[in-house]
Amino acid sequence: MPVEYFRAPRGLQLTCANWQIEAAYRMVQNNLDADVAEDPENLIVYGGLGKAARNHEALHKILATLRRLQPDETMLVQSGKCVGVMKLHEDAPRVLLANSNLVGDWATWDEFRRLDALGLMMYGQMTAGSWIYIGSQGIVQGTYETFVAAGKKHFGSDLRGRLVVTSGLGGMGSAQPLAVTMAGGVCLGADVERKRIEKRVKTRYLDEIIDDPKLALKVALDKKAKGIAWSIGVPCNATELLTVVRDSGVVPDMVTDQTSAHDMLVGYVPDQMTVLQANELRARDPKAYQRESARTVAKHVALMLDLQERGAITFDYGNNIRTEARAAGVGEAFRIKGFIPEYIRPLFCEGRGPFRWVALSGDPSDIACTDALALKMFGDNVSLRTWIEKAQQRIAFQGLPARILWLGYGERARFGLAVNELVRSGELKAPIVFGRDHLDCGSVASPYRETEAMLDGSDAIADWPLLNAMANVAAGATWVSIHHGGGVGMGKSIHAGQVTVADGSSNAARRIQRVFTCDPGSGILRHADAGYPAAKSFASTNGVDLGG
Ligand code: NAD
Repeated sequence: MPVEYFRAPRGLQLTCANWQIEAAYRMVQNNLDADVAEDPENLIVYGGLGKAARNHEALHKILATLRRLQPDETMLVQSGKCVGVMKLHEDAPRVLLANSNLVGDWATWDEFRRLDALGLMMYGQMTAGSWIYIGSQGIVQGTYETFVAAGKKHFGSDLRGRLVVTSGLGGMGSAQPLAVTMAGGVCLGADVERKRIEKRVKTRYLDEIIDDPKLALKVALDKKAKGIAWSIGVPCNATELLTVVRDSGVVPDMVTDQTSAHDMLVGYVPDQMTVLQANELRARDPKAYQRESARTVAKHVALMLDLQERGAITFDYGNNIRTEARAAGVGEAFRIKGFIPEYIRPLFCEGRGPFRWVALSGDPSDIACTDALALKMFGDNVSLRTWIEKAQQRIAFQGLPARILWLGYGERARFGLAVNELVRSGELKAPIVFGRDHLDCGSVASPYRETEAMLDGSDAIADWPLLNAMANVAAGATWVSIHHGGGVGMGKSIHAGQVTVADGSSNAARRIQRVFTCDPGSGILRHADAGYPAAKSFASTNGVDLGG
């Protein structure tokens, strides 16, 4: 069978009935663009098995349905397959998606894999199945914010003259070297797959590849000593790199990890074997593979703990590695802190999160125009200004040109309306589609990540993402999704996404005002309800109604 590749249409020629529908049509294909997706042939976008559609047949049905969808109709997607169309009304979302959801007791990888093998489900990760993945850029700003916050908290400065050691340079993990160098530091990162590392050099996320871990460490220390921001990818297993670091006696300033440890069968790769041997073992004996993964992850986290013990700031970067290591016998795994309670929660208390937009024209000048607008509107926020300026210099677009900007409550609505106005006036060549990661302030329940260690112990309460999704549907987002298992794996998270199109119309302006207010607003409610003083005071000074 010849391999089929997808690429979003560009320009002003519509294939669908209007821009709301066209946006979904372009974005599902953009997620699968060979420049965007990690494994486009298998419809895998990022994050282990995170897919945009269940299979090729299902994808073709989604595209065919969008081509004939009417402005008052809504397509329903169940785990990456279109299952029907409903006649609703023009202000309703054009697509509703539910991906990878399983009832509590069945919410396990084994049950998911059984259903997946039967062709009944797919794993949607977060933005893969909800069609708003924008390549590695989507995570770079969050990663940058995290490293900057960690630098401020622990060193009172940026990362100049600091060494960060990590692993996993995949779809999301590759943001680490770029973010660390943007913050002035040196990043040494392992990945078992050389071709993944090569892709990062090509897309300018990584500076160089050094095959020998010892030499790589030596070069990294030299750059650190000279205060040069630099990143090095090492094609080896995480355990191999960390063993070399530990045995050398070097204590890195920071240690973290973004291998796909949320999935011990398809994401994580055991050591003491090549990737080819690992693939062969996975196909031949999945149970044996998982035993090897468990053995490796235990060693991996033990090494991280060892470096932590010796003084390295060590944090979990949202891949569930601590849970897997604990299950494999590392009782101390949770001595490593999660990055959300450590560095990101204060941002969530202001409704700030990974807001992003994509130029449907395909023209980079449209993003340059929105960048200029963002600098004009938010340029007095030093962190936002620095990010946009650095992103303009360093970020290579993947697929349709896009920008991520961690805007907060109030800012998102103001910016969305201003962009809608630029579309209306013709200053932008075509409509802009706005969305966000599910890792946002009000849209996720994930006790090992976004909602770890909540003040009131409400970590596992999943009413919040459901309320968030319902509010976004009522507000008229263009598409809304509810997913399970993103980031940390089956049984560990429930989360929701929304995407809304600015097509320049007054109808779009009304939707934008409603969605971009209630979406981050639900995050303020969630954090105020949990008792965070910052969220309560933000609510009272910004007119967020807490009821009563
Ligand atoms: P990915 O599957 O695209 O990449 C994972 C990479 O890890 C691959 O390149 C793989 O070769 C490598 N790898 C696997 N096992 C390894 C090992 N033992 N040693 C060295 N390399 C190994 O996944 P991704 O999109 O980069 O996401 C990585 C992880 O981060 C996932 O668990 C994901 O759920 C999580 N995640 C975190 C955030 C966040 O905000 N912190 C956001 C999205 C995803």
